[in-house]
Amino acid sequence: MLEQLNREVYAVGEVIFREGEAGDCAYIVEDGCVEVCVTTAGGEQVVKQIGKGELFGEIALIDHKPRTATVRARDKSVLIPIRRQLVNELLDKTDPIVRHLLLLVMERFRGNGHCVAGQPASDTESAGRNKLRGEATQKLALAHDITRALSNDEFAMYYQPICDLSTGHVAGFEALIRWNHPTKGQISPLDFLWLAERTGQIREIGLWTLERACRDWPVLRQQTNHPTPFVSVNMSANQLTGDGFVEEVSSIIKRCAMPSSELKLELTETVIINNPDQALRLLEHLTSLNIRLALDDYGTGYSGLDSLQRYPIATMKIDRAFISNMLTSEQSREIVNSSISLAHSLGMDVIAEGIEEVETNEALLNLKCNFGQGWHFGRPAALN
Ligand code: C2E
Ligand code: CA
Ligand code: CA
Repeated sequence: MLEQLNREVYAVGEVIFREGEAGDCAYIVEDGCVEVCVTTAGGEQVVKQIGKGELFGEIALIDHKPRTATVRARDKSVLIPIRRQLVNELLDKTDPIVRHLLLLVMERFRGNGHCVAGQPASDTESAGRNKLRGEATQKLALAHDITRALSNDEFAMYYQPICDLSTGHVAGFEALIRWNHPTKGQISPLDFLWLAERTGQIREIGLWTLERACRDWPVLRQQTNHPTPFVSVNMSANQLTGDGFVEEVSSIIKRCAMPSSELKLELTETVIINNPDQALRLLEHLTSLNIRLALDDYGTGYSGLDSLQRYPIATMKIDRAFISNMLTSEQSREIVNSSISLAHSLGMDVIAEGIEEVETNEALLNLKCNFGQGWHFGRPAALN
């Protein structure tokens, strides 16, 4: 990053900036040495030397205050200017929590007398900071709530049947998490998993869901009627890339006496796209334990199944977006048709997600789709 920034070269004695001037950047001394000359309240001049690798003028990164010192090159100096605009752009791209913390640290730094009084931050700046603070505080509170939910056992597992389309019998279940929040009621996974993914809490949640599903399996299994029954558990990309994932899965399977061939892990293309080689090793490791893998939300990702054929995926799950439109859109129907043919030609079986109507069920049966999931067969429900 520093390598990409411009350099400014100053001759001995040359002024870099003067006290009272408007400033919009800080400087890092890459080579040489500068003298910072500050006038104290009593009118005395205090001179400080700043050498290689050090930073000066950083108040300009916080707000539009006039410079509080005059700085000259003591030796011939090479400086890297860091502009406020660049810092703001970088802050905009970071996680809101990190951004909030940095802004607080910067403000506290200014409050410690590192800056002389000047004009206050503009209304737009204050409004922007307040908005950021509001967003970040909400997220911090939610992240804190998630940690509490894990220790207070507030999460619950719901199971939705997956049926064999040719017989209509239940072949397996997909495990779907719910959060029974003490004051907000039941919260959908879509409203908290995205944050858990960013904070890393998804790892603990993921292990919890896997263990819960494996423990519930003996009872669930009795509700199936299929030669190869299964329970399917969703895995987030962040979870899979953590150290020791396979070992943790393996120890849960052992602890719960789960027949591994009856466990299916659902993952999305993101896992593969993020790190194709690491994903291949990981997925092969999981299949070597006899676990089956399903590719979730097929059709919504970036790559076609043909580019995924080197991955050991047993099942393709066609996304609900295509299934719910297939009776009205010829294009969706064609996408579903060709996805099924492609999956079968690669030796995979297919689950259609989001079947709500009997006509969709029939259309999928005609296209030789193997399994179906959706409100037509049953909504996700707690184990009773
Ligand atoms: P998903 O993996 O695509 O799960 C299917 C979603 O579709 C579920 O939403 C399910 O309730 C919903 N659904 C099933 N059939 C129908 C239907 O016929 N019509 C309609 N309109 N919806 C249907 P849910 O339970 O809200 O889960 C949303 C997403 O949250 C899941 O999408 C999955 O990506 C994620 N998720 C849920 N539980 C877990 C979990 O334990 N771990 C992880 N990593 N992700 C989870
Ligand atoms: Ca899923
Ligand atoms: Ca899905």
